This record gives sequence, C-alpha cells and structure tokens, in this order.
Amino acid sequence: MAVDFSNAVKTDEGVQVNGVVMQQIVEQCEGCERIKEFEGGKYCGSYPQPAVKWKLGSCNFATHTKSAPAKGKAKVNPLKASKRAAKGR
Ligand code: SF4
Repeated sequence: MAVDFSNAVKTDEGVQVNGVVMQQIVEQCEGCERIKEFEGGKYCGSYPQPAVKWKLGSCNFATHTKSAPAKGKAKVNPLKASKRAAKGR
C-alpha cells in the first residue's frame, strides 16, 4: 500500500494524501529507501506515521535495517560479532 504522492496536497494540518495526514520521517528512518521528499519535507512512502513504526522496535518496512529483505548492505562487523560470541559463553 504505497503512498501515492502525486495525490499529495498541502493543508493547514500538514501534507495530506487522500485525506490522511502524513507525518515526517523520524531519525531512525534515515537511509531508508522508502523516504519520499515532498515540498521540502521527508515522508515515508509506505506509512503515514513513521514515528509509530519505530515505537515498538524496528520498522518492518525499513529497507536499511537487518530484518529488511537484505540487499547485502548491512554487513555484520566481524569484530563486534566475535565480541558478542565471546560474551555469550
Ligand atoms: S519504511 Fe519505515 S523506516 Fe522507512 S521511511 Fe517508512 S517508517 Fe521510516
């Protein structure tokens, strides 16, 4: 259910798409490929309220986190991984 920003309008309440107020992305969204820029603001192309997506943990739509369908970008740091492994013993 991608947000179609061609329907976006600026209102007193903020940017709306099909009557839904779009809230700007949050810090954790930076780097996500779903970010759309509109009228100088950054919005999520998949979810109107990015802050809510991050409240309960990582956003499940994010393209830049480990749980996202990997593009091979998020590599595990070997040093950190071995430290973690050592701790677990
Ligand atoms: S998909 Fe998730 S992480 Fe990406 S911009 Fe939207 S809310 Fe942010």
